[in-house]
Amino acid sequence: MTLPKFELHRPESLDEALDILASSPGAVPIAGGTALIVDMRGRRLSPPVLVDIGLIDRLSGVRIEGGEVVIGAATTIAEIKESDLIAQHSPLLSEACGLFASPSVRNRATIGGNIAYASPAADTAPPLLALDASVELASASGRRTVPIDRFFLGVRRTERRDDELITAIRFPIPAEGTEGRFRKLGLRRADAISVVSAAVSIGPPADGGRRVRIALGAVAPTPIRARRAEEALSAGPIDEGAILAAAEAAASEASPVSDLRGSDWYRREAIRALVRRLLRPVVEGRSDG
Ligand SMILES: Cc1cc2nc3c(=O)[nH]c(=O)nc-3n(C[C@H](O)[C@H](O)[C@H](O)COP(=O)(O)OP(=O)(O)OC[C@H]3O[C@@H](n4cnc5c(N)ncnc54)[C@H](O)[C@@H]3O)c2cc1C
Repeated sequence: MTLPKFELHRPESLDEALDILASSPGAVPIAGGTALIVDMRGRRLSPPVLVDIGLIDRLSGVRIEGGEVVIGAATTIAEIKESDLIAQHSPLLSEACGLFASPSVRNRATIGGNIAYASPAADTAPPLLALDASVELASASGRRTVPIDRFFLGVRRTERRDDELITAIRFPIPAEGTEGRFRKLGLRRADAISVVSAAVSIGPPADGGRRVRIALGAVAPTPIRARRAEEALSAGPIDEGAILAAAEAAASEASPVSDLRGSDWYRREAIRALVRRLLRPVVEGRSDG
């Protein structure tokens, strides 16, 4: 099917891109196009103006800045999967990118596009929630940073205004000894949208309790943190009883729908199983586990 007509801009600087977004009604950014072009072909969207952000150098790449890992919004999923910095500081995000779609989609799809599209099943969202990430936004009138747990407002709805670009995703370098994992269940082993996904990040024991994050995808209108499940593990030993309590709490915090990929009952069962499976190896061999 042909695409609806549009005007294409390919700015080489961020300021130029922001000016176009501010001055062209209906203009939308395009990065990899793996979600937007599908919607345009299906005639669900027909933006009159596209602003391709792929030529803006400063939007790509992974770097460390002031104790934070910073990922440019136009960095591809394949680049994140291959990044040594990401493997070192946030292996759960590497895992999520390794399970994302297929190699051809990973080579085009970007992390900014994944977050901006705000699918409940976005695979980078649970790891980023578990990492306490923030979303950096820029417009012609200023810059702001929004914690990712406040960025998603609903299915395909976010805090981002139409004139704003996501410029980067940033998160604090996790403390030494932090363990993290990601898993997803799809209808096949590869190139599948998540039916349920989960990420956990558990910090080392510390005064006042350990830092625990449990985040879930595809089980609510937005990716969510399972805060009661986190509380079940933040103090006291992480033993089989605590793991079962956390899995039960996570299942109760979700509000899954039934759709062609799975029923709400199946999704709740899957959360219990995924959370248990993710937590057991994370705590194995630990003196507090
Ligand atoms: C075959 C196939 C398989 C897929 N499998 C998966 C999967 O396994 N897991 C998964 O999570 N997703 C999957 N997707 C969905 C899609 O690939 C991802 O959401 C992808 O990350 C979108 O990124 P993109 O760069 O291609 O975004 P685009 O398609 O370019 O844009 C998507 C949306 O984000 C906006 N946008 C893009 N960049 C920015 C920015 N920097 N600032 C503001 N807005 C921006 C666009 O305006 C548009 O609204 C799949 C898609 C296809 C076609």
